[in-house]
Amino acid sequence: MFTRKSFENHYEGAMEPFKIIGNVYFVGTFPASSHLIDTGDGLILIDTGYNDTLFLLVDSIYKLGFSPYDVKYIIHTHWHGDHAAASAALSYVTGAKKLICEKDAEAVKKYFEPDALLKDGDVIRLGNTQIEVMETPGHTKGTISLFFETEENGVKYQVGTFGGAGVNTLTKGKFEYDNCRSDYLESINKLRKRKVDVFIGNHVWNNDTQTKGEILRKTGENKFIDSKLWGEFLDFCEKRLYETIEKD
Ligand SMILES: [Zn+2]
Repeated sequence: MFTRKSFENHYEGAMEPFKIIGNVYFVGTFPASSHLIDTGDGLILIDTGYNDTLFLLVDSIYKLGFSPYDVKYIIHTHWHGDHAAASAALSYVTGAKKLICEKDAEAVKKYFEPDALLKDGDVIRLGNTQIEVMETPGHTKGTISLFFETEENGVKYQVGTFGGAGVNTLTKGKFEYDNCRSDYLESINKLRKRKVDVFIGNHVWNNDTQTKGEILRKTGENKFIDSKLWGEFLDFCEKRLYETIEKD
């Protein structure tokens, strides 16, 4: 559980796209997840991944029967290259609007100029979907987590992300800003209060996306529906922060 893999080139971590649940699809790679939401009135993309996997992202969207030209919004969980580097090119070609937390707006200029800025409590509405934005700083100053409802076979599910679980920026010498460690802990406590039936990770290792996707494809059993995983993952993140602090 929660184990990582690394690749010499990001595109070597290519994955088949698939439907997770309801109107939510996985279109990312092993090194960086991207999720597509079909709102019935255009698509929303959460994170675009690295530059050198943009061709895989576009291919994945087509493979699922959608068109990248229907992407209306690209929401970024935070400014880092594994989530935002491919956005400028995709947005240039498709006209999709690039959204990011106002607190990451300056840093993301390394990759693009945002079209709209998000803050805590904002709701992004498109078609049948409403995505709630929660600021969960720590990993970066403007990390956001996203919550929305999806429906499958008449059952409603709460879908949630944690936009920045990595403790790499919480190691001494790698801090992006002051108080990042205490912010991270506060964010975890804030996130714990949410009920999440389907946790979608912004990295495959967060929620075992690959294994669960294979099980879903082969057996039809949907292991993404798991109301315990959210809390378990937050426990894991908290533990990792304390381990990081201890090692410093
Ligand atoms: Zn990051």
